[in-house]
Amino acid sequence: MHQKIAVIDERTVVIGSLSTLSQSWTRQVMVTIRGGHFAHKLLEHEHAELFSRPPRCARCGGTSIELRRRRNGVWFWRCYDTVCKAGRNGRSDAWNQDIGVGRGRS
Ligand SMILES: [Zn+2]
Repeated sequence: MHQKIAVIDERTVVIGSLSTLSQSWTRQVMVTIRGGHFAHKLLEHEHAELFSRPPRCARCGGTSIELRRRRNGVWFWRCYDTVCKAGRNGRSDAWNQDIGVGRGRS
């Protein structure tokens, strides 16, 4: 399942597989769960605090930083500023930095 999670006001969690803005007829679902403890645990599990504070790019100093995940499950920051993106041979050589939150996919 490709999951979507929204935590609203640290108390209401909307979780499921439905892409609410792109699907008009589907068997996918979203469930709303209310409770501060559950919301807190979910935010902690998803590294919300850490992922809400991207660093500045160590190469260009910019703040155009995105959060990505490698196929092996490792999360990393990546600069997508155009001054930083192009490398030699025209290939993408954007600055990136691994984030130490564990490797396993869950
Ligand atoms: Zn950069």
